[in-house]
Amino acid sequence: MGPLDLTHTLAPGRGCGDCYVCCEITTINDPALQKPEGQLCVNCHGGLCAVYEHRPKTCRDFHCLYRHLGDLPEAMRPDRCGVMFSTRRETNPESPFSRIYIGGYATGDTAAYETPEVQAAIRWLSEQTPLPIWLAFGKVKRLVSPDRELAEAIVQPSPHHSPDLKARAAAWAKRYDRWVYMYDTVAGVR
Ligand code: SF4
Ligand code: SF4
Repeated sequence: MGPLDLTHTLAPGRGCGDCYVCCEITTINDPALQKPEGQLCVNCHGGLCAVYEHRPKTCRDFHCLYRHLGDLPEAMRPDRCGVMFSTRRETNPESPFSRIYIGGYATGDTAAYETPEVQAAIRWLSEQTPLPIWLAFGKVKRLVSPDRELAEAIVQPSPHHSPDLKARAAAWAKRYDRWVYMYDTVAGVR
């Protein structure tokens, strides 16, 4: 799987259906529309976009991972599972794991992160991509992939780490760098 699969290619035959989670959960800062995170867009009426044909570019360009990844089960539609996953980029990342990453955003109760289908999706995403996965808890986000041991070995390599951990840390960092490079190239940042 390449990075383009997460940002450009939409899963054939998959639509949003009755879901309009992103019209509420996301921050929109577009010349045509500004709205804070967690506030339903003023254009959203009964789940339908009143300005759909002329919706802002930010809305046109955005699709959550459910729309990009056909291998995510139907139960992972955000309004069904209670979590929206999407790719994010930080221009001034606070963490080496937040240059480009997958963010999970609970639509309500963060207990949704613990359900079997969401846990399975997190495991599957972490196997398919080297992108870090963060889960949002209000304004705070928590890194869930790579796991703590591997994350520490990546950020703070130590001669005391086992050869296996060192090898996994080096491989992860190399693969992540390659994906970040490809994302930046596609986005015209490089
Ligand atoms: S959260 Fe995903 S599935 Fe739901 S409306 Fe937005 S893009 Fe469509
Ligand atoms: S303008 Fe339309 S698509 Fe964009 S957030 Fe509002 S309701 Fe959703």
